[in-house]
Amino acid sequence: MKYYILFGPPGAGKGTHSGAISEKYNLKHISTGELLRAEIAAGTELGQKAKSLISVGALVPDEVVEGMIENAFDTIKGVDGFLLDGFPRTLAQAEALDAILAKRGESVTAVVSIMIPDELIYKRIEGRALIEGRADDADRSIIKHRIDTYHSQTEPLIAFYKEQGKYYEVDVTGETIEENRQRVLKLMETIE
Ligand code: ADP
Repeated sequence: MKYYILFGPPGAGKGTHSGAISEKYNLKHISTGELLRAEIAAGTELGQKAKSLISVGALVPDEVVEGMIENAFDTIKGVDGFLLDGFPRTLAQAEALDAILAKRGESVTAVVSIMIPDELIYKRIEGRALIEGRADDADRSIIKHRIDTYHSQTEPLIAFYKEQGKYYEVDVTGETIEENRQRVLKLMETIE
């Protein structure tokens, strides 16, 4: 099985490009953000706890997302692998992922990192807010908190995966979504 991580700051377009990648490689796309929003929509206890954290742009506890990921690996069949989007987001989550995969005799295949500068993050997220209506996209101070969290908690994963020789980065500051998508797909062709 392949285990790809789609990595990048909030608003880089992880969700936007995940469809084309998972289709091409027969992967199941797993977005922890989407799973959490589904829990909120369903009004579950987990969702209620997650909501207050997500709405201020904070991360939910590591164990929560780790449980979701392990559950997905246990239950989803009929694919050649997984495309993880928004997970791992902390060093502890990356280590937990390694442990979850090691139990199965598996390991992370590659990290596909899509990069945009902070100024562009605001522009992209504010544009998305008008389309998707996510509460955490609507407020500049919440976006700032997510960007700060990305830099302090998530960015250290770059060194973690570079050390393992699994880190691949692509610039997605192109003008159109299609152009950026082609850049991501082209990068993936170089990975094996
Ligand atoms: P974005 O990539 O724009 O930040 P996501 O849908 O990936 O959007 O995440 C939305 C929110 O869900 C995050 O700000 C965070 O509160 C929560 N979340 C998603 N994935 C994780 C994770 N791996 N660990 C902790 N919190 C997460």
